[in-house]
Amino acid sequence: MKMSGKDAFTIARDVFRPSKKRADDAQEQSRHDSVGGDFTFETHRLYYGYVIDPKDNTLLDEVLISAMRAPNTYTREDVVEINTHGGAVAMHAILELALSKGARLAEPGEFTRRAFLNGRIDLTQAEAVIDVINARTQKNLELAAAQISGKLKDRVAQSRSSLVGILTQVEAAIDFPEDVEDLIDPEDTITTLHREVLVPLQGLIRNYIDAHVFRDGISVAVVGRPNVGKSSLLNQLVKKDRAIVTDFPGTTRDIIEETLNLQGIPVVISDTAGLHPTENPIEKIGIEKTLAHVNGSDLVLFMVEAHRPLDPDDHLIYEKINSKSIIMVLNKMDLMSTGSTPTLPDDWRFEDQVHISALYDRGIDQLKEKIVKLAGGETPLDLNAAIVPNLRHKLLLETSLAAVEAVIGQLQNRTSSELWAIHLQEAIDALGVISGDTVKVDVLDQIFSRFCVGK
Ligand code: GDP
Repeated sequence: MKMSGKDAFTIARDVFRPSKKRADDAQEQSRHDSVGGDFTFETHRLYYGYVIDPKDNTLLDEVLISAMRAPNTYTREDVVEINTHGGAVAMHAILELALSKGARLAEPGEFTRRAFLNGRIDLTQAEAVIDVINARTQKNLELAAAQISGKLKDRVAQSRSSLVGILTQVEAAIDFPEDVEDLIDPEDTITTLHREVLVPLQGLIRNYIDAHVFRDGISVAVVGRPNVGKSSLLNQLVKKDRAIVTDFPGTTRDIIEETLNLQGIPVVISDTAGLHPTENPIEKIGIEKTLAHVNGSDLVLFMVEAHRPLDPDDHLIYEKINSKSIIMVLNKMDLMSTGSTPTLPDDWRFEDQVHISALYDRGIDQLKEKIVKLAGGETPLDLNAAIVPNLRHKLLLETSLAAVEAVIGQLQNRTSSELWAIHLQEAIDALGVISGDTVKVDVLDQIFSRFCVGK
């Protein structure tokens, strides 16, 4: 249990009794550092003892308490953490006790939000905390960890401060129009904008395009008639490459989903049972749902049986999905006589094809390679060194970039300095929303709602 805020220490002191030895030490300490009570926490130390309800001296649990004074804490406020043995009843009793002493329950993400509001981290770092918590592959984690350390923050801050510098000059030129020539050299300014803003921002946007699959992952739907081998394939994939997942948003209950780790890309793969023609109205609803799900996925694995001629239902399914990015998966190759290869209709042949046997684990590696290739996962980018923004950052980087390009155009045409100032301010504001300097409350709410309680 974690408490943050100015009363955290007082509440903890009210309910905590140090073990005997620690109490003696603490008493010794409190002679130098007393805050009124008979026991004082020294900052950044771990205390062993008991939580006791002072009302009737009931002992609730044996605990370790860490007490950390502001400002060197996660939230930059006083923070107390109580480590209990973890039983639900004891934890609940301690929570109730803290609440009765004036604490309140934290909102999801509130500790990180406070860290952000108190200026310990910027918004990109706060977002990276949730990315670390939700990381599904090692690469995922590495990208998030780099962002927590402030790499993106620093890059954005550099460009922003260079824009602010230029804006200051432009504003001076507005105030002293007769000295414009002395205050600003348009050619020099354009060169600076190119070097310090345009090129770095373009680089970040390119990194998003090249590598965002490593942070966002892709969704893959397996479709095909009943009994072609969809769940057998899923089982094969899961056996070797299941990713560790806690809670992934967007999981549909009607559709079986698994998260795989394919060469560092989180791949959410779903087995969409029941995509077959039917007149049954209930089944039809299910099929509509499945179709909507398939349409929302990034890639479709369309599975047919290799050893048999295509079924009319295969054609009907293909018609429904052929606008998507498809890999044709010809399964049950083990049932083909040696040497022969399955044939597909002419208009299907341009789709990517893989021959597999889900049952006997053949061709699965080739299938995985195809998925990674189509996902754009064969990036030449050095992920260890790269700063990869998320979609929110990328959109704001584009807004800022467009404004900088407008400034450059205005400078080239020697238009009025008021116009330069307007576009410079736009560019600065967009970068400010990335770091959280100028962000609106609803954007914060949306970002922090992705957190769970206690983070
Ligand atoms: P789904 O309905 O599409 O999910 O199909 P299943 O995965 O349940 O497979 C249907 C049947 O086909 C099962 O009896 C599987 O053992 C069998 N099957 C699946 N893949 C293969 C394969 O590659 N070779 C052979 N011979 N049988 C397979």
